[in-house]
Amino acid sequence: MWDRVWTNAVVATMAESGAEAGAEAGAEGGLPFGMIGAGAVAVAAGRIGWVGRADEAPPAADVVDCGGMVLTPGLVDPHTHVVHAGERRGDWEMRLAGATRDDLIRVNAGIRGTMLTTRDTSEPDLYAQSARRVRTLIGNGVTTLESKSGYGLDLPTELRLLRVSREIGRRLPVDMVCTFMGAHAVPPEYWDHPDDYIGHLCDVVLPAAVAAGLVDIVDGFCDTAAFRGFTHAQMDRMFDAAAAHGKPVTLHADQYSLAGAAALAARHGALSAAHLEYTDAAGAEALAAAGTVAILLPGANYTLFEAKKPDVALFRSKGVRMALATNNNPSSSPCLMPTAIMNLGCTLFRMTAEEAVAGFTREAARALGLLADRGTIEVGKRADLVLWDLAHPAELPYRIAYSPVCTVIRGGETVFAAAQELLVLNS
Ligand SMILES: [Zn+2]
Repeated sequence: MWDRVWTNAVVATMAESGAEAGAEAGAEGGLPFGMIGAGAVAVAAGRIGWVGRADEAPPAADVVDCGGMVLTPGLVDPHTHVVHAGERRGDWEMRLAGATRDDLIRVNAGIRGTMLTTRDTSEPDLYAQSARRVRTLIGNGVTTLESKSGYGLDLPTELRLLRVSREIGRRLPVDMVCTFMGAHAVPPEYWDHPDDYIGHLCDVVLPAAVAAGLVDIVDGFCDTAAFRGFTHAQMDRMFDAAAAHGKPVTLHADQYSLAGAAALAARHGALSAAHLEYTDAAGAEALAAAGTVAILLPGANYTLFEAKKPDVALFRSKGVRMALATNNNPSSSPCLMPTAIMNLGCTLFRMTAEEAVAGFTREAARALGLLADRGTIEVGKRADLVLWDLAHPAELPYRIAYSPVCTVIRGGETVFAAAQELLVLNS
């Protein structure tokens, strides 16, 4: 007897090629989205115990009739800067009026501006502002998200950002993966000697954050000198320090120029590399060979009027795994809706609908090193599920800025419910 079964659903298992969960569990073999057209999912002790056809569903203490709606894995948002203070609508208005990146830098916009605000914000206030955004993400289907530091760029504020991420994970029904990103930008104190800043991060800030149990992954921003990115030598040093602490790495790579950053990430065995607008064939081959997931961030591309786009056709042809993320941040991607990003991934970057949904489920979980536990609807994984008021999973990316979440389920328990139509039958 199972604890609960969700039945009469279009189950988008997102299992690879529909074959794995699919074949055995009665999926229409090889269908896109690993789809079971009239499916059911049974759960016990917070884990998925059975997946298959509704007419073969096992008995359970609770039976939830999904009314033919779409059931997907809980969404995973693998790249956010969601913990920050203030907003930056002024940056947006300046860009609308034609301001360039240099114009914005001159007025302390972007990362620099948010750093100044965040340094001046108390921990309770930072928590309150950030938790509000995370609640919105949960209501839009997110059950696991990554959250970066990088708006402090000094010891006390970097630790404060990471503590707030951890605290959100303790108090809200969501898993927070905490990423140390001291190497987000060069702070004003080190503007003319960035090597010393990297040394400070490696020798002081990262060890303190690790000792406090606040670091799951280490990130950085690598680009050419013209874009004030950290150099290969500086990122090598940062990533060697991460490895010395046993922490995996990810990298903001090749966003504004071809900096060889994708290959650098691959060389360090990075879980993922993000942006990749300028990454070339050699970079794509390196990512594929290393199993480094490409995290594409069309929200930033859209907000920055960036004409150069990541070469999705190239990545696909080389076998690079592609994830998507909201990249929630106040300046370049003020977005809290994964389905809107799926839509941009398709319309701006020409991903397929299936790639876009996989980008926020299976591939996002892979990008965080969590694929064994979540990201698909397969037996043994944690029962993180989202029920959508839609008839087909391709409608998730199809509609523009539409997020018809009915129920969000984490570990088998409902953590968000938007609609009352569900018929719960006690059998
Ligand atoms: Zn980012």
